This record gives sequence, structure tokens and C-alpha cells, in this order.
Amino acid sequence: MSKKNSKAKSKNNLDSKICPICEKSFSWRKKWERDWENVIYCSKLCQKNKDKI
Ligand SMILES: [Zn+2]
Repeated sequence: MSKKNSKAKSKNNLDSKICPICEKSFSWRKKWERDWENVIYCSKLCQKNKDKI
């Protein structure tokens, strides 16, 4: 029996995104629970850095 790779996107809150600045993936955090759809950057630092590009 082979193990199935369960990389299918599950529909829970623990989503993740890729930060366009540092290109790292970051996961859903409690502090973003109301604003997750609008979260683009992994941190405030990256949010600042967007102006430098
Ligand atoms: Zn980042």
C-alpha cells in the first residue's frame, strides 16, 4: 500500500500564503483571523519593503 500525498487544499482556517517580498510562505495567524483575505505580506517589515521595490 502506498501512502497518499494529501497536499490537497483543505478548507480550514490554517491557510498559507506566499509573501511577494521575501517569497516565503507564511501561515494563518490568529491576529489575522478577521483580515486574512487582505493579508499580503508576512510581516510589517515586508510591508515596509514593498515601497523599496
Ligand atoms: Zn515577507
